[in-house]
Amino acid sequence: MQHKLSLYNTLTRKKEVFEPLHAPFVGMYVCGPTVYGEPHLGHARSAVTFDVLYRYLKQLNYKVRYVKNITDVGHLENDADEGEDKIQKKAKLHHLEPMEVVQYYTNLYQRDIGKLNVLSPDIEPRASGHIIEQIQMIEEILENGMAYIENGSVYFDVPAYHKNHNYGKLSGRIVEDLLNNTRELEGQGEKHSPLDFALWKKASPTHIMRWPSPWGDGFPGWHLECSAMSRKYLGTMFDIHGGGLDLMFPHHECEIAQSQASHNHSDSARYWIHNNMITVNGQKMGKSLGNFINLSDLFSGNHPMLEQAYSPMTIRFFILQAHYRSTLDFSNEALQAARKGYTKLINGLRVLEKLQYSEAEATPDEKLNQELLKLSEDCYRGLNDDLNTARTIASLFNLLKKINSLYLGQLPIDALSRGTFDTIRNTYNELVLDVLGLREEPTGDLENMLDLVLDFYKEAKEAKAYDKVDVIRAELKKQGIVIKDLKTGIDWAYEE
Ligand code: ZN
Repeated sequence: MQHKLSLYNTLTRKKEVFEPLHAPFVGMYVCGPTVYGEPHLGHARSAVTFDVLYRYLKQLNYKVRYVKNITDVGHLENDADEGEDKIQKKAKLHHLEPMEVVQYYTNLYQRDIGKLNVLSPDIEPRASGHIIEQIQMIEEILENGMAYIENGSVYFDVPAYHKNHNYGKLSGRIVEDLLNNTRELEGQGEKHSPLDFALWKKASPTHIMRWPSPWGDGFPGWHLECSAMSRKYLGTMFDIHGGGLDLMFPHHECEIAQSQASHNHSDSARYWIHNNMITVNGQKMGKSLGNFINLSDLFSGNHPMLEQAYSPMTIRFFILQAHYRSTLDFSNEALQAARKGYTKLINGLRVLEKLQYSEAEATPDEKLNQELLKLSEDCYRGLNDDLNTARTIASLFNLLKKINSLYLGQLPIDALSRGTFDTIRNTYNELVLDVLGLREEPTGDLENMLDLVLDFYKEAKEAKAYDKVDVIRAELKKQGIVIKDLKTGIDWAYEE
């Protein structure tokens, strides 16, 4: 089957067939977390969205280089480039080295996002490890006359850039409107225009995170790291740039401006992909709004907005059952429904494993084969249509209905050809496990299961059914568990 993946490109505002610049290689850059707080549901949505894209591209046999950064410097208190660096603020508060703060939250991010079965990127660069590349890029922009130095800081000159370029091409914002709507904020006196943004900020004497530069000690502006690191690892022009919709402006708009204004003169990426936000009662979920839920809270159920704990795969499924460009409204009901949907798909894997097919006994029925092949193809159609995981999941449920009917004997399995049987099995397994990235999540714990077995063991012993006693002992031993008949009762231990 020919797979043609289309993606909605924010830059052109339309769905386009995905054609890599240098097939079979694909370069993909995604804006990662700013590591100054615990990962929350919003982080999870972006991570899972681009994880599915990464997985699907690999499934389509592309050789993908996936770069996702860690912002560990330069992300100021708000997008107005003002205020204290978030990481520095936390470091001061807890008397820590900024790098301790960065490492602590990076570990938490990787731990919790990893639980969602999100694959690690191929390169995970840190902003603080790429100061030299950022300084070089600033020098290029200065040389090209689209930045200026003011009192040890360097600012991007948006009006100078806009003369020959289009500031707003990605977000669709109009410079004149932006100017009319931007108030001159206090402390922005160094900027020639309120639209200008910092490429390099001079460090005050108390600022801990500082590096030497041609303009004195300072630190890079937030937008610059992604331009510098994507160029370093993917080249001046690469295939896909992703991130949350809240990063489209100003962050990604500024990235494009920086790349255009440097010696590259490129948009840096051809396809700009943005995932939509998680909402609560229609309002955006976010740290600044105080209505966010950390992943660790979801896993433990310990949060006033939660009625219960939700497992990592429930959360992954919850994210996948919406198209990434739609908003996704959080509610306990939606998460409970996600749990059911997830369980249904996983049970399907077990049914497929148990299906017995024998080519020798087959008398293929053309109509049934065609129907099943079409259902199987539909599963890919959703993904190919701008990574619509919601549609793919619906198609997988349709296919699953047939798989269950085959299992229950309501449909004759002998009526399938070998090719059809293999196709439906491969489609289902491949999409559920490899592309959607769902995995079996054991319910119940070992202790409870063993208690149950020990009860049976005790009963058998009391009934003097020694053959059963021996079987239970032998079977548990195979699992590395030994039963201990103690004076005080029956217990188990790991075999030493
Ligand atoms: Zn970025």
